[in-house]
Amino acid sequence: MACVFCELTQILFENEWEKCFLDQNPVSNGHILIVPKRHEASFFELTKAEKLAIDELLEKCKKYDDEKFNPDAYNVGINIGEASGQTVLHCHVHLIPRYENDVENP
Ligand code: 5GP
Ligand code: ZN
Repeated sequence: MACVFCELTQILFENEWEKCFLDQNPVSNGHILIVPKRHEASFFELTKAEKLAIDELLEKCKKYDDEKFNPDAYNVGINIGEASGQTVLHCHVHLIPRYENDVENP
């Protein structure tokens, strides 16, 4: 089964259960995806160990983004299921740095 996230090797950080990399189409500078090494579509199907490992990498990636981009805020989000907007059916957590005035008001 071909899965882009299973095959991805340009890794920023990893631990026993998870790996992370820069999003190829970033919402903002420093947009990172954290994904389990095991192929699993749904966040709700991850083990406790995999969820804890996500938390550890979130901390590491936040530190990386803080030092490199000095953002003003963050969004952390997970799309779970195609109806939610999940386009890659291998679980991933978005870490999206936010910057003052990065959203244009209509
Ligand atoms: P979703 O909408 O499924 O939550 O988000 C999927 C994300 O994966 C998107 O932000 C998209 O830019 C990113 N993405 C899709 N394919 C690749 C890829 O091959 N490499 C990387 N680095 N990011 C990808
Ligand atoms: Zn996969």
